[in-house]
Order: sequence, then C-alpha cells, then structure tokens
Amino acid sequence: MNTSLNPERTVAELKELRALTGNSDGAQRVAFTETWTRARQFLKDNAKDLPVTVEQDEAGNLWFTLRGASEKSLLIGGHIDSVPNGGWLDGCLNVFAGLEVLRRIASEGTPPITIKLVDWCDEEGARFGRSLFGSSAFSGALVPDEVRNLTDKDGIKLADAVAKHGINLDRALDAQKHQKNAAAYLELHIEQGPVLESMNLPMGAVLGTFGVERHTITFTGQAAHSGSTPMSHRRDALGGVSKLHLAIRDIAVRHGGVCTVGKVTTQPGIVTAVVGEATMTLDQRHLDAATLAKMYADARDASERIAAEEKIKVEWKKLWQIQPFPFHPDLIDMADRAIKETCGVSHRLPSGPLHDAAEICRTGIPTVMLFVQSLHGISHNKIEDTKEEHLEMSVKALDRLATQTIEWIRSHAD
Ligand SMILES: [Zn+2]
Repeated sequence: MNTSLNPERTVAELKELRALTGNSDGAQRVAFTETWTRARQFLKDNAKDLPVTVEQDEAGNLWFTLRGASEKSLLIGGHIDSVPNGGWLDGCLNVFAGLEVLRRIASEGTPPITIKLVDWCDEEGARFGRSLFGSSAFSGALVPDEVRNLTDKDGIKLADAVAKHGINLDRALDAQKHQKNAAAYLELHIEQGPVLESMNLPMGAVLGTFGVERHTITFTGQAAHSGSTPMSHRRDALGGVSKLHLAIRDIAVRHGGVCTVGKVTTQPGIVTAVVGEATMTLDQRHLDAATLAKMYADARDASERIAAEEKIKVEWKKLWQIQPFPFHPDLIDMADRAIKETCGVSHRLPSGPLHDAAEICRTGIPTVMLFVQSLHGISHNKIEDTKEEHLEMSVKALDRLATQTIEWIRSHAD
C-alpha cells in the first residue's frame, strides 16, 4: 500500500469545508449560490499544487484532469453541492476522497491512463427541483427546454441562475464530450440509510440504483352523509386507498423491493361525510427491471380487484419513472475486494436513492459505487454523520479500487 495516501487529511478538509460553508443548521452549499461557489473555490485551492488541468464544462461540471500515458480515462466523481440545512458528508466526501486518490496517483509520476476527478454540478436539485443537472447533461438525458423555466422560491428562472455561473443552458449538452475515452466511473458515497449500520459493517459494494415507478391513484365512490347512509349502501373511496395501501406492502415484500404510499387526500374531507374521492401516491422501487414491472402490474391488478369489491372506480396517472441502473459486474467484484482488503468484510447492497452514478451508468461507461456506513441511517440533515475511522477506511478502499480499476482498464485496452 502506498504511504502517500493520507485519509486523515480528507477528514480534516471535510471539517474545514463544513466550517467554511455551513452554519448551526447544517451545510448550505446549495448549487448556484455564493456559498456553493466558495465551496468549489476551496476545492480548487486544495488542488492547486497538483499537476492537473482544471476546467468547468458547459454544464458547470468541474473537472480536474491528470494526464496519463494513455487518453483512456478513469473518472472519479462526487458533488460538492448540498441541500439546505444538509449534512457535512453527502456528496463532498466523494469529492475530497477522490482528491486524495488523485494526489496519491500524481505523487507516483505520470499514470498509465488519464485520471479525472469531477465535481458534478447540482446533484441535489435543491433550488429548482431538478436533480442530477450536470451528470444528466454529461449523459445526454437532460432536456434543456424541460428545465429552462423552472423557478426557485424567489421566481428566478433556472436558465438565468445558471448563466450567472458561466453556464449557457443551450450548450449544456456539450458536456457529453467528456464521455470520450472514459473507461470506468467510480463514486464513493455515504449510504444515507440504515442497512450497513444495522449489520455492523463499515462499507458495502453497490449493485446499482433502483428503478422507480411513481404514480397517483384516484378512487371515486359516492360522497354521502355519515349518519344516514347504512354501511351496506356505501361506495367509500377511502376503502380503496386503505386496502391498496396494505396490498402494496405485501407486493413489496413478495418481490424484495420497496413500495411507499406517501400522500393521501380525501374529498370532501370532512368528519361527517363518507369519502367520495380519495387520491394516493405510490412509489415503487427495485433493482431489477422485470421485477419492478411485475410489482407495478401487481399493484394495478390489486387496485382493480379492490375497486370491484368496494363498488368504486379506480384511475392511474403516471408521475415519473426511471429504469434501474445495474452496475458493472467486474467493477462490483473489484469494489467488494477493495472493501474486504480494507475493512476485512464486505456486503453487496442496492442503492435506494439516485446518484450521479446512475447517469454515468446510463451512457454505458462501466460504473460502480462504494457505500460507507451512515450513523442512524440519517442524511439530508445536520445530524448526518459517519465515524471518522470509517471515513478514513472509505478513502483507503476508494484508493485500492482506483488502483485495481486502472489495471482492469489497461488489461481491456484496444
Ligand atoms: Zn449525494
């Protein structure tokens, strides 16, 4: 193991970043704000002694390129932006761990392939509600016309806000040029969930990001007086929601996925009336596309059966959908090995949240992520935390994985 890697420095840099860009409510590095610019300047300052070229691409992604003997490149990514009142690790751990790996590689002279550290622009979408802005421009999935007129809480349009940071929305898709020669993508992230902590494991290799089916379901019955309508005469729309909510929990367990009803509304919504119309949201997630499709079909079937039982009508409306992005099997194996070598034990798990890695994976570039344990499984909150010894392990594991991936890219060259 190379001795120049200094994981303690990564923890120190993260603490400095927290002091520079956070307050008593948490991290305030919302993309396209002055604090975000300050965070990026801190990153550039800390990279200034490295033999890298620094470039902001057309979508605002910030690239640190260490030229190697070959143009083929290994990409290591993260996001320095945060949600308002966010945690001190989400996104920026990846960036500063990547910086430490870049330092270690640079200290050994010219690497055999090119190494690029990228700070993706606006992963969180906290200001305009569109997450993965920079990485989806890189993948080509971003549709400028769909985001142009999104407004923040002050009525400022996305296109105008990004222009203040040197981004011309109409040229954002030019960021796809960085796909050229990209041979693999690595991303370290805090887990943001309770799985690793509950298993008492420091780290895990990520299998991919879940696909999502998100729908609104409306049941329509007949609003009626709560005193004068006998039970046998009711067409109670809330009965549909109640039964379907229980049914989707079974569907999730049966297929090994997750299904959530997050919001329910009723009409007329008063204490003295049987519900005439009840609307629920449904969010279903799975790593396997066919199984996700089956979970969705099962939920639809259940809603039809329940509607018939309750003598009510049911109608579905799609809100949003994304396919699962399974990561590269070779890279998953290497991530598993790097974690075992660092922590003694590893675990493979899917990612419930989306990450920039999903957009990179979409392009076909071999991708994998490493997760490090989150204390209490909490994120997007100022209490977000990870043990320092685990943070240091995660830098070492990312470094080992980078070394293995460079070898893997070389052995697959031409
Ligand atoms: Zn994140």
